[in-house]
Amino acid sequence: MTITTKLVLAPIIVLLGVGVTSAFMLDSYLQSVLKDRIKEELSGIAASAMVAVNALGQGADIASFDALADRLGKSSGARITFVDREGAVLGDSELLLEELRQVNNLKSRPEIQSAIRGGYGFSERYSATVDSEFMYVATRVTSKYAPNQQDPAVTSRFVIARAALPLTNINQAAAGMRWGYGLIIIASFSGVVLLGLVASRLIAKAIKNERTILEQRVSARTKEMSLLQNMSGLLNACTTVDEAGKIFMQLLPQLLPELRGAISVKKSNRNRFSVLASWGGEWPGAEDFKTNECWALRKKHHHTSQEQETNVICEHLNETLKGEAMCVPLLAQGETFGALHLISNTSHVSDNEFKIAVSAAEQIGLALANLHLRNDLRQQAIRDPLTGIYNRRYMMETLQQEFSRAKRLHSTIGLLMIDLDHFKRFNDTFGHDIGDLVLKRVARVLRKNSRAEDTVCRFGGEEFCLVCPDMSLENAQYLAEKFRKRIRNLDIRVNHKPIDAVTLSIGVALFPHHAHDAELLLKSADEALYRAKAEGRDRVVVSLVNKAGVKSQFLLI
Ligand code: GH3
Ligand code: MG
Ligand code: MG
Repeated sequence: MTITTKLVLAPIIVLLGVGVTSAFMLDSYLQSVLKDRIKEELSGIAASAMVAVNALGQGADIASFDALADRLGKSSGARITFVDREGAVLGDSELLLEELRQVNNLKSRPEIQSAIRGGYGFSERYSATVDSEFMYVATRVTSKYAPNQQDPAVTSRFVIARAALPLTNINQAAAGMRWGYGLIIIASFSGVVLLGLVASRLIAKAIKNERTILEQRVSARTKEMSLLQNMSGLLNACTTVDEAGKIFMQLLPQLLPELRGAISVKKSNRNRFSVLASWGGEWPGAEDFKTNECWALRKKHHHTSQEQETNVICEHLNETLKGEAMCVPLLAQGETFGALHLISNTSHVSDNEFKIAVSAAEQIGLALANLHLRNDLRQQAIRDPLTGIYNRRYMMETLQQEFSRAKRLHSTIGLLMIDLDHFKRFNDTFGHDIGDLVLKRVARVLRKNSRAEDTVCRFGGEEFCLVCPDMSLENAQYLAEKFRKRIRNLDIRVNHKPIDAVTLSIGVALFPHHAHDAELLLKSADEALYRAKAEGRDRVVVSLVNKAGVKSQFLLI
């Protein structure tokens, strides 16, 4: 039995029980009311019979009583009987005068006994005379008429008038009423069953609809959760912010299909944000903006443009937007890495979209924090902390990669080995801090005057190295000269006084002319540097080592 059937059957059974009990109670109540009415009516009839007896006057005999009983019986519809104090019948509306003599003495009847004793009697019982159930009411009166001495039956002025009505009428009425109740109960029951059936159908339909809606919601939530999980997994595998941007453009439109959106990330200039990825059509906001142009970034808390009936829209968004706009900061470990911006194409961002946006922003914030952390660690591993340029380990990795590329493409690699001349002097004269400052200034010149594809690194101490892919020997020499001159002309002051010019010795070597692998190329450049030092420093010298690693007197290209 389904819960719906149980729900419908239970009230029906209760209703049926209540109906039947009420019907029984009503039946007995109505019967008692009817009986009371009849009793009252009989009392009235009996009383008026007594009045009529008083009116019989002098010399009334048994015939007069019987005639009176007949008359009263006809007019009232009740059976009227007159009885003397001994219980002898003086008159009866149902019996002929001749029959009166054969009638039993009525003194033993309860209503007659009560009436003799107390003036009023009542009983309900079966009458063998008329073979029917009757209600009797008897009243006693001391008649004003003089007893007829000739008629021995009428010997006393003490007469009891008894009125009786058959109870069959009441029983018939009660039976009729019972039918009525029965019909009412059956009709109500049928009605309730019918209503129950309709209600059960409606409830079942409503439950089915509700279940379908719930199932749809569950499946939508499951899809959203799996998309969020998927996004989280992919973001964890990303190595750059640009890669993460591609993931956002793929997955966020699936998570929030009704919204246009964008992700902006913090730029290295720490007060500015730029849009990394956008979806759902052209992004109607600034591509680049300041922190204080976005309320969410200012508050470090999500912001919706129509929050609490207000219309406070971020400055970086177009003010004429029709739908609601929402910005969520991308936070992790208390730091802001960017913001998720959403605009509703309809009018409002729904509660569900809001929740998805907040959870997606949490994950994106964490992923961006991870990327930054990883990037910071990597930078720490590959950069020299003093000068900020690459370290020797990174240069060695790069050199290997450039070699395989150059061999594949039959291109060249220029290598510049740079050493500061008499650098120790700066330390000795001005202290280590100034020595550090010189190293930093030299590194900056090297970085600024090299190409984007060149790798500038601090080889160690006061030695630097440049890996220049796709560079001719001529250009490598030219570049080395440029460095030498620029650094020589550096204006470095200590206590407002310029220090001695910083000079460089530079050894230049080229793949494939001087070496066929990374190690030999470094050795070749080192050899040239050694010669630059030997020849008097502050100069650029090209390697004399040939491809086989054998030093020759002449440069053979
Ligand atoms: P040369 O012309 O022969 O190269 O002479 P030099 O003095 O430059 O070379 P040397 O190898 O004798 O001395 C290098 C000095 O560089 C020694 C060391 O104290 C200094 N040095 C190395 N690393 C650092 C650094 O990080 N900071 C500072 N201030 N000095 C450094
Ligand atoms: Mg040195
Ligand atoms: Mg040196």
